[in-house]
Amino acid sequence: MRIGHGYDVHRLAAGESLVLGGVAIDHALGTVAHSDGDVLLHAICDALLGALALGDIGRHFPDSDPRYRGIDSRKLLAEVYRLVSDTGYRLGNLDATIIAQRPRLASHLPAMREGIAATLGASMQQVSVKATTTEGLGFAGREEGIAAHAVCLLETG
Ligand code: MG
Repeated sequence: MRIGHGYDVHRLAAGESLVLGGVAIDHALGTVAHSDGDVLLHAICDALLGALALGDIGRHFPDSDPRYRGIDSRKLLAEVYRLVSDTGYRLGNLDATIIAQRPRLASHLPAMREGIAATLGASMQQVSVKATTTEGLGFAGREEGIAAHAVCLLETG
């Protein structure tokens, strides 16, 4: 078994779109990024890569590369999972937390889990996504940015 951890942050700004866990969310602010700015999927990608010591998402998909401008991060996740699968590992389970003061995300979590599980060829029971505020503290609390943590377990066989 191998365990991995990922963390990502994107800045929030008006006039940008907000996509979290592959789900488009209606909100006054969105994430500023070269890709679609999906912090949750980026943290999951880094957890999967980290579990196998394969570097990070920035190494595999550099933001200087125009091919990744505005890219749907589900494509990045699928590509990362192909790398994982090629080594003979598969997902045991993953657990992730989105840190955002607003908007309220609880109603979107099942759709995120479903989409992530589908991309990883896994069941929803293997994919946990949670959300928390920071009670107004720090950059997330001031709504300057959204962060996400992810931990995954990979297994062979
Ligand atoms: Mg990112």
